[in-house]
Amino acid sequence: MPDLASRYNEAQQRVAAAAKQAGRSELDVTLVVITKNHPAQLVLDLLDLGARDFGENRDQEAAPKAAEVAVASNEAAKWHFVGQLQSNKAKSALSYSSVLHSLDRESLLQSVAKITPMRAAPLDVFIQLNLTDDPGRGGIQPENLSAFAEKVLAVEGINLLGVMGVAALDRAPEIDFETIASCSAELQKLHASAKFISAGMSGDFEKAISFGATHVRIGTAITGNRQY
Ligand SMILES: *Cc1c(COP(=O)(O)O)cnc(C)c1O
Repeated sequence: MPDLASRYNEAQQRVAAAAKQAGRSELDVTLVVITKNHPAQLVLDLLDLGARDFGENRDQEAAPKAAEVAVASNEAAKWHFVGQLQSNKAKSALSYSSVLHSLDRESLLQSVAKITPMRAAPLDVFIQLNLTDDPGRGGIQPENLSAFAEKVLAVEGINLLGVMGVAALDRAPEIDFETIASCSAELQKLHASAKFISAGMSGDFEKAISFGATHVRIGTAITGNRQY
């Protein structure tokens, strides 16, 4: 717990410093703590430390964790789903998640569209970009972004927040953060309020903030190494 507190505080300070450096307010950057491969107790400890936004990438793990946290804490955790979501898991994942960062394909959009009209509140969604040269990888390729975004905007119960990306490991992250920023600018021409950018992880979140990230997804820098 003391270690967790100091890592969480340090991450918050680094986010604030990076925002300031970029001439932005720290309030413009949401720190989402990625708690995958950690037990519900870690989320409860982070709630005690003041964290409210948590991210998970697998429904099988996240669904029972979210339920356990809801029972055990008076503070409400806000869940962000950040991993590739199988269509048959969409209903479960969206029952506890408020934000989907990984809308990455047409078939998932179709599954989500069956669920969102019944929700009490709109689902906040990021379109995940494919930043690799491999069209077979998950994510929407930048050249297809506007066409896909129009389909997303036509769905009832979705609030399109913006774009999400994961920088490739085999090159400088700045290259991908620049692509994400230009995709964001293009998307805002279509839909001005879709101005948010989910980008940056433990190893590169300060750079992502300098390229306009509004949601950083930080795991190991806060939680320590994951338990598999
Ligand atoms: C695991 C994960 C993260 C966090 O990664 P760290 O390097 O531990 O900060 C961020 N985004 C996604 C999509 C992830 O799956």
